[in-house]
Amino acid sequence: MREVKPHVLIVEDEPSQRAVLAYNLESEGFRVTEAEDGDAALLMVAEETPDLIVLDWMLPGVTGIEICRRIKARPETRSLPIIMLSARNEEVDRVRGLETGADDYVVKPYSVSELMARVKSQLRRTRPAGVGETLSFEDITLDAETHRVQRDGQPIKLGPTEFRLLATFLERPGRVWSREALLDRVWGRDVYVDTRTVDVHIGRLRKALCAHGGGDPLRTVRGAGYALG
Ligand code: CA
Repeated sequence: MREVKPHVLIVEDEPSQRAVLAYNLESEGFRVTEAEDGDAALLMVAEETPDLIVLDWMLPGVTGIEICRRIKARPETRSLPIIMLSARNEEVDRVRGLETGADDYVVKPYSVSELMARVKSQLRRTRPAGVGETLSFEDITLDAETHRVQRDGQPIKLGPTEFRLLATFLERPGRVWSREALLDRVWGRDVYVDTRTVDVHIGRLRKALCAHGGGDPLRTVRGAGYALG
């Protein structure tokens, strides 16, 4: 079973640098995948969109800038945060990096703690539950650090899957999630689970959220999926 932990893709051609990055990101509790060049990176993004990319500028073949441009040009991946790494420190390059749509830019050699802080800062915006933030919607709050959920001040007991489902909904209130998208996010892509399983867990989540009264905050969108609010 997959955690709510965010998925970070590292694109870096130097194995030692990739290893250091992977080690530190995993220590911070992230799920890490690695690509050693641009073509591999683009394939991996098409296969399973990560929550953030740490992208080296200088790569063999397709450059980091070109990868960034292509990812930001596609509507499905436009909001995917990208942090560019570069040995270049010229102001003009910094401007070019940001012009391609990179969300942040870190110059090599960088301090690992600084880079981790920037990764978390990007994810706080897009995957707040994944970096231990407290999420709330109307009278529901979820503390991703302590795994406590409350509704109108009353504790709500949730199983691990229902917890991940609720965290996913709370990260994007109003968004309609298809069963397939929920399977990818909550169960992970590699796990074979029938889409009806999603309905079962949604049912349990609804029951738990309404245990102390209050209306059903989850909306069933016919033919599309589920949404919070
Ligand atoms: Ca490089």
